[in-house]
Amino acid sequence: MTDIGFIGLGNMGGPMAANLSRAGHRVRGFDLSASACATASENGVEIVGSAADVCAGAEVVFTMLPSGRHVLDLYEAGGLLAAAAPGTLFVDTSTIEVGESHAARDVAVKAGHRALDAPVSGGVVGATAGTLTFMVGGEPEDFQRAEPFLDVMGKRAVHCGASGAGQATKICNNMILAISMVGVSEAFVLGEELGVSHEALFDVISTATGQCWALNTNCPVPGPVPTSPANRDFDPGFATALMVKDLGLAQRAADAAGVRTALGKHVHELYARYNEEGGADRDFSGIINAIRASAGE
Ligand code: NAD
Repeated sequence: MTDIGFIGLGNMGGPMAANLSRAGHRVRGFDLSASACATASENGVEIVGSAADVCAGAEVVFTMLPSGRHVLDLYEAGGLLAAAAPGTLFVDTSTIEVGESHAARDVAVKAGHRALDAPVSGGVVGATAGTLTFMVGGEPEDFQRAEPFLDVMGKRAVHCGASGAGQATKICNNMILAISMVGVSEAFVLGEELGVSHEALFDVISTATGQCWALNTNCPVPGPVPTSPANRDFDPGFATALMVKDLGLAQRAADAAGVRTALGKHVHELYARYNEEGGADRDFSGIINAIRASAGE
């Protein structure tokens, strides 16, 4: 049994903290949202009065927050780093900018602690089932220290390299995902115009060279994959607003690194427009509706 602190008990952090508690750890948690705290409490998380209070006795402190600004604010102004015992391992599982991730690690180490970036793939379903994939950046010995806890919350944890490498891996994956979803959606809309049925396209492409997760698992038309969000009016799944956030992170990282990601930039623009035009809370595969609407323009 290990004492663990957990801040950010929302859609992702709530079930992750619950899984740590279920595995027999003592989890002290905090969230600004009373309802998030109430749900976590029902799932075995001990709710404390402030973010800094989660550090009492904690060997490891997890954060699962909306952005890098939230993480940095809590680490410093929020008093987390000051409240923790020396050598505490801070594991940030939020998806944030690579540069902010470096900054979070730097302030944690300067305060006498250890730090990892460990963003996740797998969504709320994976967080609940304990089947997330963790992409981890930081020192190998810190990764080994975190692994037993990551194994409780996920099915796979990959050490991707030095600090920031986990965030970098996450945004590269999601950039590919957005590009492939736009490609699959364009193909279905073209198929519609050319008189090919959704079923025929799916039957061939899902086993041909065009196969990919966007088509085989998250197919943007209803029918071929009964569990895909297209069958439930694009109820997410992975919401467009989150995809826009991740594509923005990817583009800022590309700009900072001087790398030209022409398709990444283009799909970021397409998703930003779809987001503004009503798609924000729809699954990102709903982009097919925007592509279909623009077919005649
Ligand atoms: P969420 O909004 O449901 O949860 C974030 C929680 O942080 C909220 O409950 C909020 O009240 C809390 N919070 C904000 N500021 C706080 C503070 N100062 N102190 C304490 N609590 C505070 O978001 P989520 O869907 O759980 O996503 C969290 C992170 O995980 C994001 O970085 C997101 O990009 C990433 N992510 C989400 C998914 C997904 O499918 N939802 C998948 C992969 C990664």
